[in-house]
Amino acid sequence: MTPYQSTAAQLTDSFGREVNYLRLSVTDRCNLRCTYCMAEDMRFLPRQQILSLEELRDTAAAFVDLGVRKIRLTGGEPLIRRDILKLVGSLASLPGLDELTMTSNGVMLPTMAQPLKDAGLSRINISIDSLKPERFKELTRVGNLHEVLAGIKAAAAVGFKRVKLNAVILAGFNDDEVLDLARFAVDNSMDISFIEEMPLGEISSHKRSNTQITSAQIRQQLDQEFNLLDSAETTGGPSRYAAVAGSQSKIGFISPMSNNFCSSCNRVRLTAEGRLLLCLGNEHSLDLREILRAYPGDAERLKSSIIKAMGNKPERHYFDPQQVDIVRFMNMTGG
Ligand code: SAM
Ligand code: SF4
Repeated sequence: MTPYQSTAAQLTDSFGREVNYLRLSVTDRCNLRCTYCMAEDMRFLPRQQILSLEELRDTAAAFVDLGVRKIRLTGGEPLIRRDILKLVGSLASLPGLDELTMTSNGVMLPTMAQPLKDAGLSRINISIDSLKPERFKELTRVGNLHEVLAGIKAAAAVGFKRVKLNAVILAGFNDDEVLDLARFAVDNSMDISFIEEMPLGEISSHKRSNTQITSAQIRQQLDQEFNLLDSAETTGGPSRYAAVAGSQSKIGFISPMSNNFCSSCNRVRLTAEGRLLLCLGNEHSLDLREILRAYPGDAERLKSSIIKAMGNKPERHYFDPQQVDIVRFMNMTGG
């Protein structure tokens, strides 16, 4: 028996929701600077405050032992974390974990897609908010669209189960590209999710209340061209999916602002500095780094702290685009 032999789900919160999905942020740093995600002059965490590879592995192993079946690596940009392949390899082999996935901006995928696949990553989501090079640059401040397109191509070529695209839609910026982005996904037999912008972190590029657009408005645009067949599929959390008739693609709507699906939330997040966030839209958290560093190797203590923390998972989030209640940026939160 390995020390982390998987057991039945042990993570249930006080509202009866079972937590079986962990989003693990491996860095707060990024090679892009998306305007809705980061402020222009971001300050990043000193390296010693970030969890080490071993600490990340021990934490992931504890969660899997407690019944977590899916882990998504995120950030910041997970592919700029040194030794990311080593981490993927060690997590992919955790007994009991069904799926190890990643969300990436795609920039480094031309060289990293194959090694990630070889290391055991099962699926990947790639963020792309515009297909217009100038606009893409403006949205990401420094990005080159062609690198991301090459990254998407590389991910598809190495045979990841399904490549999913993510697009945050901002009214007045890229809401005129909803159909183009959907067509791009369908033409390439990929899925795409459209995401509502959340008021996480104070930004200066735009007023978030001016750029809000709901999933229903996005859906209206899509209905003009596609026959969307609603599906019961859910990943837990604020997303819904529809199949595109006559294609292999699905379109997802991630609606943290307009629709509250918190009652089926199955996930928690770990920030790069080891703070266990029980809800994206609340500050309830537990400092796991403190426990990891005070009691290295003490898996039982780590697990009992995680079990206890579930009692603090809030029932739901309340986002108000007029004000930023959550000062943490999305790159800290781990999207
Ligand atoms: N760097 C990777 C990427 O961009 O895919 C992973 C981290 S990023 C924080 C994860 C996802 O969060 C991306 O799809 C990004 O577009 C989304 N995101 C960032 N800030 C957001 C915000 N304020 N509201 C909604 N989605 C956001
Ligand atoms: Fe970086 Fe992803 Fe945030 Fe863009 S959304 S700045 S790619 S972490």
